[in-house]
Amino acid sequence: MTYFFETYGCQMNSAESAALVLECREQGWTAAADGESADLVLINTCSVRQTAEQRALGRIALHASLKKKRAAHGQHFALVVAGCMATRMGESLKKKFPAVDYVMGTASRSMFPLILEAVEKNSGHSTPFAQIDNEESPAFSFASSHLEEGQFRSFVPIMHGCNNFCSYCIVPYVRGREISRDPALIAEEIRLVGSHGVKEITFLGQNVNAYSWNGGELNFAGLLQMAVLEAEKSGVKWLRFLAANPRDFSQDTIRVMAENPLFCRHLHLPVQHGSNRILTAMNRGYTHGHYLALIKEIRRAMPELSLSTDILIGFPGETEEDLEATLTLMEEVRFLYAYMYHYNPREGTAAYNLPGRISEQVKRDRLSRIIALQKKHTKMLLKNRLGARECVLIEGISRKNADELVTRTERDEMAVAPGSASMIGSFAKLTLSGLRGNTFRAKELQLCPGV
Ligand code: SF4
Repeated sequence: MTYFFETYGCQMNSAESAALVLECREQGWTAAADGESADLVLINTCSVRQTAEQRALGRIALHASLKKKRAAHGQHFALVVAGCMATRMGESLKKKFPAVDYVMGTASRSMFPLILEAVEKNSGHSTPFAQIDNEESPAFSFASSHLEEGQFRSFVPIMHGCNNFCSYCIVPYVRGREISRDPALIAEEIRLVGSHGVKEITFLGQNVNAYSWNGGELNFAGLLQMAVLEAEKSGVKWLRFLAANPRDFSQDTIRVMAENPLFCRHLHLPVQHGSNRILTAMNRGYTHGHYLALIKEIRRAMPELSLSTDILIGFPGETEEDLEATLTLMEEVRFLYAYMYHYNPREGTAAYNLPGRISEQVKRDRLSRIIALQKKHTKMLLKNRLGARECVLIEGISRKNADELVTRTERDEMAVAPGSASMIGSFAKLTLSGLRGNTFRAKELQLCPGV
């Protein structure tokens, strides 16, 4: 039996798809080269933006038409829609696309073994797949492992859901309230991925630094401290986490990061906006001043750390003055890079009915100003790094030149250097000697023995 997965959206979806792949493998299933030959096609969807849903709907439509074509040749496969859009739209997806066999929301992963069983039973027959009760569990259940075969980097989810209800965001509605994972299971997963040669772990959560176990007995900083001990014992060299929220970022977290060199010197800390008025309307729970003070603390503890962020422009009621406040904040912080979007109303969120929507043209113009400033900062920060000697993790072969390897510094900078495929997954030293676009060039890689 064979499976084919398409995964969209955030790293949490990637981690969850990896866990589902493991379940398939445990049942003896193998990967299909494409959806045209698989016994099961699973589309793991994202709901965060309207465009993400439109894309997923397009993919479902494509596989639905494929289903008709394959049926004409006597081939029968199961089409499964998972992830946030499956949670949000539920069974209505089946009405829209009768070719969809199973809708598996984020809280109903217990359906998956039953789906595999039903597809196996139907193998070679064209009868409809057995119905399975889509039992949503109020408590999200974490998979025991998210290890991707042959990988030297791994995601390890530590919490799920979000209680913040930022007014533009659909996540708390589709992923539910915050649930933290048992630290003993997290430690076990760190040991497991370490024993498979994983060098870098990224801890995941929708609001990762809100981690809280057993009524606050263990908080995020405590968990990070525990993770360092497990990583050291397991051979894991680099630790990262995503997605942190400025409102929950504690002094203890800064201290634990600063004291432990296993934490990569890069932090993604979404600011979203620089205007206090808009931050309040977004319900972000911090101000421009609070964000700057936090960055100052973080930089005081880790001067070498690079920062990246998310910026959402064109929120209802945004004025030129609000935009200026965001440009000012960007000047004050100087992010290495930023994911920049313009606001699109998301049905079901608090901001959906807010007055003062900004026209598409104005949103595009404002976004282009934000992007132009960010490009200037990125260029300047990267230029300042020329000549630095860095430790990098070798990620793969360059798509542009098969004789070059793509590597990443702990500050999340890309560098290419000559090398061979056998070096992939190793740590090496290089000198950032040139820059093409936003990618550093290096003349040679020196492997770090024993790392
Ligand atoms: S912190 Fe805000 S933006 Fe992030 S997932 Fe929670 S509600 Fe959404």
